[in-house]
Amino acid sequence: MWTVASYVVRQKLAGRKQYPLVLMLEPLFRCNLACAGCGKIQYPAHILKKDLSPEECFRAVDECGAPMVSIPGGEPLMHPQIGEIVEGLVARKKYIYLCTNALLLKEKIHLFQPSKYLTFSVHLDGQREEHDLAVCREGGYDIAVDAIREALARGFRVTTNTTLFDGANPKSVRAFFDEMMELGVEGMMLSPGYSYDKAPDQKHFLGRARTRRMFRGILSNRKKNWQFNLSPLFLEFLMGKRAYPCTPWGMPTYNVFGWQKPCYLLQDGYAETFAKLLATTEWSRYGTESGNPACANCMVHSGYEASAVNATFSSLGGFLATVKATLFSGYRDDEALRLLEEPQTPVHPLVQIATTSERLQETRA
Ligand code: SF4
Repeated sequence: MWTVASYVVRQKLAGRKQYPLVLMLEPLFRCNLACAGCGKIQYPAHILKKDLSPEECFRAVDECGAPMVSIPGGEPLMHPQIGEIVEGLVARKKYIYLCTNALLLKEKIHLFQPSKYLTFSVHLDGQREEHDLAVCREGGYDIAVDAIREALARGFRVTTNTTLFDGANPKSVRAFFDEMMELGVEGMMLSPGYSYDKAPDQKHFLGRARTRRMFRGILSNRKKNWQFNLSPLFLEFLMGKRAYPCTPWGMPTYNVFGWQKPCYLLQDGYAETFAKLLATTEWSRYGTESGNPACANCMVHSGYEASAVNATFSSLGGFLATVKATLFSGYRDDEALRLLEEPQTPVHPLVQIATTSERLQETRA
């Protein structure tokens, strides 16, 4: 927190309006799962075979300068030089979130050393049944939980990252938070799913109004021991208590194609360098307020968490709101308790990988 706070203050003092907070470094697109909500693994085989070299990763990290590096993918543990990449980033004192489904974590854990700079961010989309459905793999939850136990026992930092789609049961999500805290993870990250054009399942992405309603139910009347690995103001944004514009440059993406325009989710071209990404992207075309239909329902953390962090450091009011949210807010809300009792639309037995025709309707509110 101190590293992020001092970095943001330095950017503000330098008068920088667009600064990166987290580099999304995708060293490969290959994965050992085929989740129905994923838009990353549908590339042709010759692209899926490509890896960023450690040198390419280091160049991107040095060029960008963000204090944190998130390594999603694909499945980063399938990268043949992932140990070398992580070692090089730790040497640069970058805070790394290695995002993994944990299927290979026990097998590959010897490649890593515990460090305050390295966190395994394990992808778990809810309790056992919900997670296995979301990742289309029976037994995936048990493997991930087993790997989390192993990593914690070896002294690694471990968090979870959870993507929630339409039909998520708020009561079950809250029970999942209890399970994760009991397991001993350091914090939990949440995001609503984004409707990638390439994702096989196009039926279960949330619109903005439903996203706010769902997160209000989940995150109100919060238990004291729940720890989230997200800006408290971003959580309030998900609950519908705050509105922010998207700041896609806050979490820029570098992958085998280069610097992706404008964000982790959309692919409107690539730039050779981070400086060119900032200079040549037409930023006004993006964000919910832009009217761009691709952004209409988006509330994902890679677009809006940097906005929330920026708000914390932009005014005394933002700072005090963050302190209040961190220390004092249980978010007592009787209406949210009622939302938890609403009958849920049952989650379909399993996502239909081949179905792509029906698109979510705009539900912005
Ligand atoms: S609103 Fe979402 S999809 Fe649009 S630029 Fe921002 S992060 Fe990307």
